[in-house]
Amino acid sequence: MERTLAIIKPDAVERGLVGEILKRIEDEGLRIVALKMVRMSKTEAEGFYYVHRERPFFSSLTDFMSSGPIVVAVLEGEEAIERWRRIMGATDPAQADPGTIRKTYGINIERNSVHGSDSPESARYEVPFFFSRLEMVNP
Ligand code: UDP
Ligand code: MG
Repeated sequence: MERTLAIIKPDAVERGLVGEILKRIEDEGLRIVALKMVRMSKTEAEGFYYVHRERPFFSSLTDFMSSGPIVVAVLEGEEAIERWRRIMGATDPAQADPGTIRKTYGINIERNSVHGSDSPESARYEVPFFFSRLEMVNP
């Protein structure tokens, strides 16, 4: 069993897509073991995306991610990290496979509706960034 962090980004929350995206997660057989809505400050968004601090899109990305509420969840399942990445699709919605969340709902490479940890290492940073052990349901 593996755990990964999922985020429904401000562009999707704003368009009322929370229910549809959570349903997709459950339909795919990933188990939601923690869930909440939060609004990150700019500083918190910079902390979350610290690995991207040197990238040209960092300032715009952290403005966007702190622009409105997000829904954060911890998903559990066999190969949850890779499975959630596949369900999301490529970073750029224009390049994403048909049927993926980013292809279906993403607006552009920045406002791409969802986030998922890309490795066990990033999940180990990202899950505790939002959730304490007490906030995650045990099997
Ligand atoms: N992003 C962007 N421009 C880019 C690449 C990424 O605005 O050229 C944003 C986008 O919202 C993406 C996030 O930065 O989801 C993190 O980038 P990463 O390369 O980690 O993509 P992801 O892991 O989300 O697919
Ligand atoms: Mg990433």
